[in-house]
Amino acid sequence: MHIDGAWQPSDGGARLDVINPANGAVISTIADASLTDVDRAVAAARAAFERNDWACLQPNARGQLLWRIAEAIEAHADEFARLECLDNGKPMLAARRGDVPGAADTFRYFAGWCTKITGQTMQVSRPGQTFAYTLREPLGVVAAIVPWNFPLLMAAWKLAPALAAGCTVVLKPAEDTSLTALRLAEVMADCGLPAGVVNVITGRGASVGAALTRHPGVDKVAFTGSTQIGKEIIAAAAGNLKKLTLELGGKSPTLILPDADLAKAIPAAAMGIFHNAGQVCAAGSRLYVHADIFDQVTEGIIQRARAMRSGPGEVPTTELGPLVSQRHRERVHGYVASGMAGGAQLLTGGARGEGEGYFYEPTILTGTTQDMSIVREEIFGPVLVAERFNDLDEAVQRANDSDFGLSATVWTTNLGLAHGLARRLEAGTIRVNTGGGTDPNQPFGGTKQSGWGREFGEEGLLEYMQTKSVLMTL
Ligand code: NAD
Repeated sequence: MHIDGAWQPSDGGARLDVINPANGAVISTIADASLTDVDRAVAAARAAFERNDWACLQPNARGQLLWRIAEAIEAHADEFARLECLDNGKPMLAARRGDVPGAADTFRYFAGWCTKITGQTMQVSRPGQTFAYTLREPLGVVAAIVPWNFPLLMAAWKLAPALAAGCTVVLKPAEDTSLTALRLAEVMADCGLPAGVVNVITGRGASVGAALTRHPGVDKVAFTGSTQIGKEIIAAAAGNLKKLTLELGGKSPTLILPDADLAKAIPAAAMGIFHNAGQVCAAGSRLYVHADIFDQVTEGIIQRARAMRSGPGEVPTTELGPLVSQRHRERVHGYVASGMAGGAQLLTGGARGEGEGYFYEPTILTGTTQDMSIVREEIFGPVLVAERFNDLDEAVQRANDSDFGLSATVWTTNLGLAHGLARRLEAGTIRVNTGGGTDPNQPFGGTKQSGWGREFGEEGLLEYMQTKSVLMTL
């Protein structure tokens, strides 16, 4: 693990296997941190925060260092993409074009914020009698806990704003995909990040993650993961009232209206669920299509699903990699089987893919009801439920009938209608006539049980800061 600026062994010596999901082979092992290791990492982050050599670095120098990290990620882009492919299973090209440049862009964007952190002055009594102002200060030690679907990218989403704000961090990657976070720790140290400012510890969520979330030395938890674990973190954080940001699950709807540009909507709806084998928090996993165009749209997505080239991520033509683990593939298949047992009809897919890896066929189901688990719960696999609607109000009602509220997509050429739907749909992000993607300049996060807080933009930075009010009699 990378603690206090150096590689350090785990105190207990326990290890976890690193498995290549494309063939089930053990390719490495990582440390399964002990509680002593957790204490050591938090102590290193606390000492670095109190030394003040990061938060009190000149803003310009802090920004330059974050910019340097972005450049170093780009310089090692092939290596990061290959590690991500071996560890997570995703197509190497997808990692090379998406995850890795996305991580670099995130550091570059927040590098710019270092020189733009300001407080305010305000008038609180008669002018000349008092001077009142606010200071923006870093929250302190952040525990960043990230999932396995975009390991490097999710680490960057936490580290870059935390560092721009002046915080120090203990990062715990997911136990299935820790390799890029470990390599990133080394790359950041090589860029000149002071020892202890970022510490990376690996291990199981139930032990290492849980210990971080209840640790009295941690001031904030920045978490991306499932809604169920998010709720456990809320309880664990109560001890010292840690600040929390929670980026949780989704079951995001896509609405295709009869006037939509189907040449764009159909491939985007397909990629909205099949990209990264559906292991995307904002995946468009529920599709509501106007009855007049339902057959045309579903036929187009079925064709796309059947044409997708599935295989190991290192093969350049691969579009669909395996799911992250055998356990996860069985979970995905369990959802499909339960939907079919409940009366849903299979339009395509529905089976484990060929080969030794944890492949799963792109799957489309219809004939569902709103109470089925395949409609209500996050499957996190390449599984789409597609239903027809006649009345737009009914479609909005069904789209909003969800515990989640991360993202919603609308396809229509009627922009007046689109703006109206942007207000009516209950989600943190609304996309109109576009498939997906995020940008560090636009806040991202969920409503309802998709989470608390926002990443990206000024709001994303301020999640790592607190406001101090100063009042002075003149
Ligand atoms: P998960 O909740 O099982 O695990 C996420 C992380 O939390 C891992 O590092 C894990 O080790 C750790 N963890 C597990 N139990 C813990 C505990 N009791 N205390 C503290 N940490 C613990 O999620 P996952 O299966 O790795 O990832 C998939 C989930 O992440 C999906 O629900 C997906 O929607 C969500 N996700 C959300 C976003 C977003 O921005 N909203 C982005 C990506 C993924």
